[in-house]
Amino acid sequence: MIVRKTPAEIEQMAAAGRIQARTLNLLRAKARPGVATGDLDEAAERFIRSQGAEPAFKGFRGFPGSICASPNSMVVHGIPGPYELKRGDILSLDVGVIHGGWVADAAITVPIGSVGPVASRLMATTRASLDAAVEQCRPGNRLGDVSHAVQARVEADGFSIIRALVGHGVGRDMHEDPQIPNYGEPGTGVRLEEGMVLAIEPMTTAGTHPIRMGGDNWAVYSQDGSLAAHFEHTVAITAEGPRILTPWHLEEARRAPAVEAGAA
Ligand code: MG
Repeated sequence: MIVRKTPAEIEQMAAAGRIQARTLNLLRAKARPGVATGDLDEAAERFIRSQGAEPAFKGFRGFPGSICASPNSMVVHGIPGPYELKRGDILSLDVGVIHGGWVADAAITVPIGSVGPVASRLMATTRASLDAAVEQCRPGNRLGDVSHAVQARVEADGFSIIRALVGHGVGRDMHEDPQIPNYGEPGTGVRLEEGMVLAIEPMTTAGTHPIRMGGDNWAVYSQDGSLAAHFEHTVAITAEGPRILTPWHLEEARRAPAVEAGAA
Protein backbone atom coordinates (compact mmCIF):
# COMPACT_ATOMS: atom_id res chain seq x y z
CA MET A 1 0.00 0.00 0.00
CA ILE A 2 1.38 3.38 -1.00
CA VAL A 3 0.81 6.05 1.65
CA ARG A 4 0.12 9.46 0.09
CA LYS A 5 1.07 12.56 2.03
CA THR A 6 -0.95 15.77 2.39
CA PRO A 7 0.65 19.10 1.43
CA ALA A 8 1.09 19.87 5.16
CA GLU A 9 2.82 16.52 5.69
CA ILE A 10 5.10 17.17 2.73
CA GLU A 11 6.11 20.47 4.37
CA GLN A 12 7.04 18.52 7.49
CA MET A 13 9.06 16.09 5.41
CA ALA A 14 10.80 19.06 3.78
CA ALA A 15 11.89 20.24 7.23
CA ALA A 16 13.49 16.84 7.83
CA GLY A 17 14.97 17.02 4.36
CA ARG A 18 16.65 20.37 4.99
CA ILE A 19 18.46 18.92 8.00
CA GLN A 20 19.37 15.85 5.95
CA ALA A 21 20.81 17.95 3.12
CA ARG A 22 22.85 20.11 5.46
CA THR A 23 24.24 16.96 7.06
CA LEU A 24 25.34 15.56 3.70
CA ASN A 25 27.07 18.80 2.82
CA LEU A 26 28.77 18.96 6.19
CA LEU A 27 30.13 15.48 5.45
CA ARG A 28 31.14 16.48 1.93
CA ALA A 29 33.22 19.31 3.40
CA LYS A 30 34.82 17.06 6.01
CA ALA A 31 35.64 14.12 3.73
CA ARG A 32 39.37 14.68 3.19
CA PRO A 33 42.46 12.43 3.02
CA GLY A 34 43.37 11.14 6.48
CA VAL A 35 39.86 11.47 7.91
CA ALA A 36 38.33 8.24 9.22
CA THR A 37 34.79 7.36 8.24
CA GLY A 38 34.04 6.99 11.95
CA ASP A 39 34.92 10.69 12.37
CA LEU A 40 32.33 11.56 9.74
CA ASP A 41 29.77 9.45 11.56
CA GLU A 42 30.38 11.29 14.83
CA ALA A 43 30.13 14.69 13.15
CA ALA A 44 26.89 13.71 11.42
CA GLU A 45 25.24 12.41 14.57
CA ARG A 46 26.26 15.51 16.53
CA PHE A 47 24.90 17.84 13.84
CA ILE A 48 21.64 15.92 13.37
CA ARG A 49 20.93 15.89 17.12
CA SER A 50 21.84 19.61 17.38
CA GLN A 51 18.97 20.24 14.97
CA GLY A 52 16.44 18.43 17.18
CA ALA A 53 16.43 15.43 14.85
CA GLU A 54 17.60 11.81 15.03
CA PRO A 55 19.77 9.70 12.74
CA ALA A 56 17.34 7.26 11.12
CA PHE A 57 19.92 4.56 10.42
CA LYS A 58 21.26 4.25 13.96
CA GLY A 59 19.93 1.00 15.40
CA PHE A 60 17.88 0.25 12.26
CA ARG A 61 17.91 -3.57 12.21
CA GLY A 62 20.94 -3.23 14.49
CA PHE A 63 23.01 -0.97 12.23
CA PRO A 64 25.65 0.63 14.48
CA GLY A 65 26.26 3.91 12.62
CA SER A 66 24.37 7.14 12.07
CA ILE A 67 25.48 7.19 8.43
CA CYS A 68 26.55 4.67 5.83
CA ALA A 69 30.05 5.38 4.51
CA SER A 70 30.98 3.18 1.56
CA PRO A 71 34.34 3.72 -0.19
CA ASN A 72 35.32 2.69 -3.71
CA SER A 73 33.94 -0.77 -4.64
CA MET A 74 31.58 -0.72 -1.65
CA VAL A 75 28.14 0.22 -2.95
CA VAL A 76 26.07 0.82 0.19
CA HIS A 77 25.62 0.06 3.90
CA GLY A 78 29.25 0.64 4.90
CA ILE A 79 29.62 0.73 8.69
CA PRO A 80 31.65 3.85 9.59
CA GLY A 81 34.85 3.09 11.45
CA PRO A 82 38.64 3.28 11.36
CA TYR A 83 39.01 3.34 7.56
CA GLU A 84 41.03 6.47 6.68
CA LEU A 85 40.17 8.15 3.41
CA LYS A 86 42.95 8.36 0.84
CA ARG A 87 43.49 10.75 -2.04
CA GLY A 88 41.84 9.23 -5.12
CA ASP A 89 39.10 7.39 -3.19
CA ILE A 90 35.46 7.94 -3.87
CA LEU A 91 33.10 7.74 -0.90
CA SER A 92 29.37 7.14 -0.92
CA LEU A 93 27.62 8.85 2.00
CA ASP A 94 24.04 7.87 2.82
CA VAL A 95 22.16 9.65 5.61
CA GLY A 96 18.64 9.25 6.99
CA VAL A 97 17.15 11.87 9.31
CA ILE A 98 13.99 11.64 11.42
CA HIS A 99 12.41 14.97 12.36
CA GLY A 100 8.89 15.42 13.68
CA GLY A 101 8.25 11.74 13.01
CA TRP A 102 9.13 12.02 9.30
CA VAL A 103 12.08 10.43 7.53
CA ALA A 104 14.26 12.07 4.87
CA ASP A 105 16.77 9.86 3.06
CA ALA A 106 19.45 10.88 0.55
CA ALA A 107 22.97 10.03 -0.57
CA ILE A 108 25.91 11.42 -2.52
CA THR A 109 29.21 10.03 -3.73
CA VAL A 110 32.12 12.42 -3.24
CA PRO A 111 35.71 12.47 -4.51
CA ILE A 112 38.56 12.49 -1.99
CA GLY A 113 41.06 14.87 -3.51
CA SER A 114 41.50 14.40 -7.23
CA VAL A 115 40.19 11.09 -8.58
CA GLY A 116 40.67 9.17 -11.80
CA PRO A 117 38.67 9.66 -14.99
CA VAL A 118 36.51 6.55 -14.55
CA ALA A 119 35.56 7.59 -11.03
CA SER A 120 34.70 11.10 -12.22
CA ARG A 121 32.57 9.84 -15.07
CA LEU A 122 30.80 7.28 -12.91
CA MET A 123 29.85 9.93 -10.36
CA ALA A 124 28.69 12.40 -13.04
CA THR A 125 26.61 9.77 -14.82
CA THR A 126 25.00 8.45 -11.65
CA ARG A 127 24.08 11.93 -10.51
CA ALA A 128 22.68 12.78 -13.96
CA SER A 129 20.60 9.59 -13.91
CA LEU A 130 19.06 10.70 -10.61
CA ASP A 131 18.20 14.09 -12.12
CA ALA A 132 16.59 12.35 -15.10
CA ALA A 133 14.54 10.12 -12.77
CA VAL A 134 13.39 13.06 -10.63
CA GLU A 135 12.16 14.78 -13.80
CA GLN A 136 9.77 11.84 -14.33
CA CYS A 137 8.16 12.24 -10.88
CA ARG A 138 4.92 13.79 -12.07
CA PRO A 139 1.27 12.81 -11.55
CA GLY A 140 0.11 10.53 -14.37
CA ASN A 141 3.55 9.12 -15.15
CA ARG A 142 4.31 5.56 -14.15
CA LEU A 143 6.95 4.09 -11.90
CA GLY A 144 8.55 2.42 -14.92
CA ASP A 145 9.21 5.87 -16.38
CA VAL A 146 11.28 6.73 -13.30
CA SER A 147 13.17 3.43 -13.36
CA HIS A 148 13.79 3.61 -17.09
CA ALA A 149 15.18 7.15 -16.87
CA VAL A 150 17.94 5.91 -14.56
CA GLN A 151 18.72 2.86 -16.66
CA ALA A 152 18.79 4.72 -19.97
CA ARG A 153 21.27 7.29 -18.76
CA VAL A 154 23.59 4.89 -16.94
CA GLU A 155 23.73 2.30 -19.70
CA ALA A 156 24.18 4.95 -22.41
CA ASP A 157 27.36 5.96 -20.61
CA GLY A 158 28.61 2.36 -20.47
CA PHE A 159 28.08 1.71 -16.76
CA SER A 160 25.96 -0.88 -14.92
CA ILE A 161 22.85 -0.61 -12.75
CA ILE A 162 22.88 -2.67 -9.59
CA ARG A 163 19.76 -4.76 -9.94
CA ALA A 164 19.54 -6.37 -6.52
CA LEU A 165 19.02 -3.07 -4.65
CA VAL A 166 16.12 -0.64 -5.07
CA GLY A 167 14.76 2.74 -4.02
CA HIS A 168 11.58 2.98 -1.99
CA GLY A 169 8.68 5.04 -0.79
CA VAL A 170 9.45 7.06 2.35
CA GLY A 171 7.40 8.83 5.01
CA ARG A 172 6.82 7.99 8.64
CA ASP A 173 8.70 4.78 7.83
CA MET A 174 12.08 4.76 6.11
CA HIS A 175 11.04 1.99 3.74
CA GLU A 176 7.49 2.22 2.43
CA ASP A 177 5.91 0.96 -0.78
CA PRO A 178 6.61 1.03 -3.63
CA GLN A 179 9.98 -0.53 -4.34
CA ILE A 180 11.74 1.45 -7.09
CA PRO A 181 14.12 -0.56 -9.28
CA ASN A 182 16.71 1.41 -11.23
CA TYR A 183 15.80 -0.36 -14.45
CA GLY A 184 12.46 -0.90 -16.16
CA GLU A 185 10.10 -0.28 -19.01
CA PRO A 186 8.53 3.12 -19.64
CA GLY A 187 4.75 3.23 -19.37
CA THR A 188 4.57 0.30 -16.95
CA GLY A 189 4.00 -0.06 -13.21
CA VAL A 190 2.19 1.99 -10.59
CA ARG A 191 0.69 5.27 -11.76
CA LEU A 192 2.25 8.18 -9.88
CA GLU A 193 -0.13 10.36 -7.90
CA GLU A 194 0.09 13.63 -6.05
CA GLY A 195 1.28 13.08 -2.48
CA MET A 196 3.50 10.09 -3.15
CA VAL A 197 7.02 10.55 -1.74
CA LEU A 198 9.81 8.46 -3.24
CA ALA A 199 13.44 7.88 -2.27
CA ILE A 200 15.03 7.43 -5.68
CA GLU A 201 18.54 6.04 -5.48
CA PRO A 202 20.56 4.94 -8.50
CA MET A 203 23.35 2.56 -7.48
CA THR A 204 25.87 1.87 -10.22
CA THR A 205 29.21 0.27 -10.93
CA ALA A 206 31.92 0.91 -13.48
CA GLY A 207 31.96 -2.85 -14.16
CA THR A 208 29.17 -5.43 -14.03
CA HIS A 209 26.04 -5.46 -11.88
CA PRO A 210 26.38 -8.45 -9.48
CA ILE A 211 27.09 -7.68 -5.83
CA ARG A 212 28.50 -9.53 -2.85
CA MET A 213 28.01 -9.10 0.89
CA GLY A 214 30.88 -8.11 3.15
CA GLY A 215 31.98 -10.16 6.15
CA ASP A 216 30.14 -7.83 8.54
CA ASN A 217 26.83 -8.77 6.84
CA TRP A 218 26.15 -5.09 6.12
CA ALA A 219 28.55 -3.80 3.49
CA VAL A 220 27.56 -4.49 -0.10
CA TYR A 221 30.36 -4.54 -2.70
CA SER A 222 30.51 -4.82 -6.46
CA GLN A 223 31.33 -8.49 -7.03
CA ASP A 224 33.96 -7.66 -9.67
CA GLY A 225 35.68 -5.09 -7.45
CA SER A 226 34.83 -2.19 -9.76
CA LEU A 227 34.08 1.29 -8.42
CA ALA A 228 30.52 2.00 -7.29
CA ALA A 229 28.47 5.19 -6.96
CA HIS A 230 25.20 6.11 -5.24
CA PHE A 231 23.11 9.28 -5.43
CA GLU A 232 19.70 9.65 -3.79
CA HIS A 233 16.98 12.22 -3.23
CA THR A 234 13.69 12.11 -1.37
CA VAL A 235 11.17 13.50 -3.89
CA ALA A 236 7.50 14.47 -3.45
CA ILE A 237 5.13 14.22 -6.38
CA THR A 238 3.04 17.39 -6.47
CA ALA A 239 0.55 18.94 -8.86
CA GLU A 240 3.33 21.33 -9.89
CA GLY A 241 5.74 18.46 -10.61
CA PRO A 242 8.64 16.93 -8.68
CA ARG A 243 9.67 18.58 -5.42
CA ILE A 244 13.07 17.55 -4.08
CA LEU A 245 12.83 17.45 -0.26
CA THR A 246 16.57 16.82 0.34
CA PRO A 247 18.20 19.80 -1.42
CA TRP A 248 21.85 18.79 -1.03
CA HIS A 249 22.44 20.19 -4.51
CA LEU A 250 21.42 23.74 -3.52
CA GLU A 251 23.63 26.51 -2.21
CA GLU A 252 21.51 26.87 0.93
CA ALA A 253 22.49 23.37 2.02
CA ARG A 254 26.12 23.82 1.00
CA ARG A 255 26.50 26.54 3.61
CA ALA A 256 25.83 24.03 6.39
CA PRO A 257 29.39 23.62 7.67
CA ALA A 258 29.55 27.30 8.62
CA VAL A 259 26.66 26.92 11.08
CA GLU A 260 27.71 23.58 12.50
CA ALA A 261 27.36 23.76 16.27
CA GLY A 262 30.11 22.55 18.55
CA ALA A 263 31.73 20.08 16.17
CA ALA A 264 35.42 19.28 16.10
MG1 MG B 1 17.13 5.01 0.57
